[in-house]
Amino acid sequence: MAMLDRALVRVLPAVPRSVVRRISNRYIAGTTLADAVRVVKQLNADGKTATVDVLGEETRTRRETLDIVRAYHDVFEAIERERLDSNVSIKLTALGLNLAYELCRANLFKVVRHAAESGNFVRIDMEDSSTTSETLELYRELRDEGLDNVGVVLQAALRRSIRDIHALAPLRPNVRLVKGIYVEPPLIAYQEFEEVQQNFVRCLHELLEAGSYTAIATHDELLLAEGKRLVAERGLAREEYEFQMLLGVRELVANRLVRDGHRLRIYVPYGEHWYRYSLRRLQENPKIAGYVASDTLNRLFGANGR
Ligand SMILES: Cc1cc2nc3c(=O)[nH]c(=O)nc-3n(C[C@H](O)[C@H](O)[C@H](O)COP(=O)(O)OP(=O)(O)OC[C@H]3O[C@@H](n4cnc5c(N)ncnc54)[C@H](O)[C@@H]3O)c2cc1C
Repeated sequence: MAMLDRALVRVLPAVPRSVVRRISNRYIAGTTLADAVRVVKQLNADGKTATVDVLGEETRTRRETLDIVRAYHDVFEAIERERLDSNVSIKLTALGLNLAYELCRANLFKVVRHAAESGNFVRIDMEDSSTTSETLELYRELRDEGLDNVGVVLQAALRRSIRDIHALAPLRPNVRLVKGIYVEPPLIAYQEFEEVQQNFVRCLHELLEAGSYTAIATHDELLLAEGKRLVAERGLAREEYEFQMLLGVRELVANRLVRDGHRLRIYVPYGEHWYRYSLRRLQENPKIAGYVASDTLNRLFGANGR
């Protein structure tokens, strides 16, 4: 990232919400379920599958967590009604993990059981490292109850991930492998870009070795190439792994994966609570300074520079 972009990333929280909203529009389907349905339909028509995320991390009250459970209920109904090719992704802090483990557990079981009834699948997103152990514990509890329509996320940035893969291996977990978006200290996380890449490849190798259904979630060309190489080396069929990308990121690369015959799932967030998700996406956009600058110019001089 260029110096100006890095500097801007640090002050992003000070950028007015209206600007953040405009320049992060591409990352979010909209504020309503109807918006998400429209976007997923288009993705399906383009040969891509989807995972719908109801935005709303870190809920503050029990009532808010129940609203999230209800929202997922509506998502499952919409997926069935509209015959969408999509599953869901969920954040445990939205279900109350920071309020009470038992509350989160009860909410999570409700969502996963509902998914099972409609033949659907729930991916539990991974949040910052303060939640890793409890997230994996809840995943185990679900699997112990015989609920197999659920998967987790492991972050290549975390040093523990390779141990987590080995510990989970007997369950043959369904895992989305990502680099990891949260800033974590050196004691527990790799800090260098190349170190994270290397650990991503190592984790991917171990997951495939364990016979896990693996979702290779990255926009990084090197990791996409390694992913393709490793699945080809093992002779995996199309339905034995998938690639995943975020809505609004590197669409040309995404289209190429589909053209080459890979299964590709797009992460489709929607909802009223768009701000924190948007900040995280903008922080990763290597051209963030350009976007903020052109938005500012457009506002000052009009969309066409008039
Ligand atoms: C489907 C999916 C689900 C995810 N779930 C989680 C999760 O549960 N927990 C978690 O910690 N992280 C999650 N992530 C985020 C992940 O950890 C990374 O932060 C993110 O994917 C960026 O890493 P990268 O591998 O794409 O590599 P990068 O090196 O960051 O990106 C590679 C290239 O992609 C392009 N790019 C990447 N991001 C953007 C952007 N926002 N805007 C424009 N261009 C961009 C740039 O050209 C960049 O050079 C998820 C990512 C995906 C794709």
